[in-house]
Amino acid sequence: MREYLKFYIDGAWVDPQGSGTQDLINPANEEVSGRIALGDKFDVDKAVAAARKAFPAWSQSTREDRLELLKAIKAEFEKRQPDLAAAITEEMGAPASLAGGFHTFLGIGHLDAAIVALENYEFEQKHGDTLIRKEPIGVCGLITPWNWPINQVTVKVFPALATGCTMVLKPPQLAAYSAQILAEVLDAAGVPAGVFNMVQGKGSVIGHALSTHPDVDMISFTGSEPVGVQIQKDAADTVKRVCLELGGKSPYIVLDDGSLTEKVAGAVSGTMINSGQTCSAGTRLLVPAARLDDAKQAAAKAANDTSVGDPAGNVAMGPVVSADQFETVQGYIEKGIAEGAELVAGGPGRPEGLDKGYFVKPTVFVGDNTMTIAREEIFGPVLVMIPYYDIDEAVDIANDTPFGLAGYVDGENQEACRAIAKRLRAGAIYVNGGFDFNAPFGGYKRSGNGREWGAEGFEEYLETKAIVGHG
Ligand code: NAD
Repeated sequence: MREYLKFYIDGAWVDPQGSGTQDLINPANEEVSGRIALGDKFDVDKAVAAARKAFPAWSQSTREDRLELLKAIKAEFEKRQPDLAAAITEEMGAPASLAGGFHTFLGIGHLDAAIVALENYEFEQKHGDTLIRKEPIGVCGLITPWNWPINQVTVKVFPALATGCTMVLKPPQLAAYSAQILAEVLDAAGVPAGVFNMVQGKGSVIGHALSTHPDVDMISFTGSEPVGVQIQKDAADTVKRVCLELGGKSPYIVLDDGSLTEKVAGAVSGTMINSGQTCSAGTRLLVPAARLDDAKQAAAKAANDTSVGDPAGNVAMGPVVSADQFETVQGYIEKGIAEGAELVAGGPGRPEGLDKGYFVKPTVFVGDNTMTIAREEIFGPVLVMIPYYDIDEAVDIANDTPFGLAGYVDGENQEACRAIAKRLRAGAIYVNGGFDFNAPFGGYKRSGNGREWGAEGFEEYLETKAIVGHG
């Protein structure tokens, strides 16, 4: 049983002002795995005051000071990687190989990207007699979701540290353990007191207190669209910068060529990673109508071949994160069936032999883009294949969504893929499996207004000052 009953404020582990606690459930066995403290508004006040107090010195630290600290964090992070992985498996059910692999690897990737951005960034530029300076924005409230927990925290904390900002992190209750270990990493690496602070608790309490706090300069939020909208409203009275990284319903276009079945299988297996709980997952799989039968066969095989079970074992997919998430996903599967989508693999209920734990069958439908399962973010291992007749129609379907987080184009003709990528209205398009830590990530339309990852993610934390007549 884990017990995390203190918050990290002003360089020390302190008792909460609030008296509440919450038991956390292991999604693989539905048993209590530990307990966290729930903070209140006074904990936030204390953490913000510490961050405010630390800002003058940290914002004036040199590039070299901050690079040295980031490198010290990397050494500590690498030491604690196995602990972080075990925490991720326990809190949100990611298979051990995924938690110890891509989940924690993402943290190192963002650390390296922050180091590269800091090494190369020009904080001052001359335009005639004017000096343009980029300065840290101030005290940042960082509010994160549970689905790729270390990714979401590190993609905010590392650039915020690198730019000279101070911060208060509010991690998700469903993934509190890995955040706690990350705070231990930062403490061990010697982050100066007050630069990084962390308060656990409910979004409606801690997140709200940060969004409305007069001494917080910026909120960086990753999570669902309704909460993002609420945060923007809450932050309006104090005119904060608000960076929103929200949900998606991303299109995955597979072209009609010899690689179709392999690409469809890859798209399906890719969606099932992390039990489909990925904001950028390609959950609308667009396939040529003339090849629909081939695509169905390949998709069904890939879904049926996805091993599901105890995340401590050697499986491709663990449970979804919680009982609520299980019910939500089951509701969408039922809705897909009720609206007439054709079930190609999976379906309602748990996979055979798994009676306990929030396990969902890897599920593939064939449907059209008007169905609820094609319009709304499901956040589970469920995708809908949608046939298209020509490329123009594929692009129209791809763009016919309120979201715009990501898109995928796969095919043998790289030139054709590139041309389609340019026509998609989304913040990141992945061609034939491309991946880049230094590429910006963020949404068009209702997927948000911010950019994270690499140099653009670094710039989110900077203000612009003009010194006119500088000479
Ligand atoms: P969520 O919106 O329910 O919660 C996110 C965070 O906000 C949590 O820490 C929560 O406690 C907090 N919160 C809740 N109410 C709040 C309030 N009123 N004020 C301030 N904070 C509040 O989202 P979730 O279920 O944790 O995560 C899933 C969502 O995140 C999905 O929609 C997914 O697409 C999205 N997501 C987006 C990205 C991206 O980069 N665009 C990445 C990962 C996840």
